[in-house]
Amino acid sequence: MVASSALLVAGLIAVPAPAQAAPPDISARPSPEEVAKALGRIAKASDGRVRLGVVGRSNEGRPLRLATLGHGRTRLLLVTQQHGDEPLGTPAAVRALWTLGVPDTPWHRWLRSRVTVDVVVQANPDGAVRNQRYNHDPSATGEYAQPGVGYDINRFHNPLTPIEDNPVPESRAVLRHWHATHPRVVIDYHMQGRYVQPDGEETTASILWPTSPLAPGAAVTESRRLAVHNYDAMTRTARANVTRYPGGDYEGIARNAYGILGSASLLVELSDLPAGQTEFQIRTAYVSMLATAQGAADGSLWQADPARADDIPARGSPLPGALSTLFRADAA
Ligand SMILES: [Zn+2]
Repeated sequence: MVASSALLVAGLIAVPAPAQAAPPDISARPSPEEVAKALGRIAKASDGRVRLGVVGRSNEGRPLRLATLGHGRTRLLLVTQQHGDEPLGTPAAVRALWTLGVPDTPWHRWLRSRVTVDVVVQANPDGAVRNQRYNHDPSATGEYAQPGVGYDINRFHNPLTPIEDNPVPESRAVLRHWHATHPRVVIDYHMQGRYVQPDGEETTASILWPTSPLAPGAAVTESRRLAVHNYDAMTRTARANVTRYPGGDYEGIARNAYGILGSASLLVELSDLPAGQTEFQIRTAYVSMLATAQGAADGSLWQADPARADDIPARGSPLPGALSTLFRADAA
């Protein structure tokens, strides 16, 4: 199992599913209702192998949906669409939940005996329905708030803030879930603008591990292994052009927060490529999810060389004329 992880993930992608067992259709920018319907179909098709729940509610009362598969000791937590206008991790998660949770081959049973995968699917449903970065809270004030709009959920995971003082229900819910489950791995899926490398190639995804000085060395090392494992899968299997995301060290960012708490933590940013490449981008995140689950199950994730994280090339310059109206230049 250990030596062939890339091949197995590639195989999962390449083998067409029988028509009667296809994953649910879901759009690239799914509504919360679409997400609910797709997850319901997966849960039903999986005969209970994919369990559905909620980690909390948004300010408008929408469920913050949790889907879980497996019963292994190693726990993974994947989070999609904290920023409502960065949607593609959500359809990727729906697809990954189906791929790992619905079939019942010996390989699938082995994987699910080794890991428990929790996915907070579309962590910012109020932002998703408005196609906005922030949550919906017209009373939001202070740093990392847009007055009259809401809070930036991905600045409110600070593990040093007492949870009852945290004004953002979506962040509180993910933090509480972390404390209830102590995942060994946390990956947070976002989207960025468009960037070109010095060699003229376009970045299709960027990744980064915790950079806060408060993150313990062991967690940073494990996070760098997670980054290298994902880099290899995303470049070799998904054919993505992956660079290092130039992120800051603020402890309220999920990437830093869950590293500070001791998880192997990773940010994945899919570039906002033209519509014709949406499927390619969803596939990149899907490959990241599958490779992470398999690497955690067979242990290959922890054999990656953490020093290789430094070889991931820096992200290049913004692509001239291609700056999306949806994504600010440096807004993880
Ligand atoms: Zn983001």
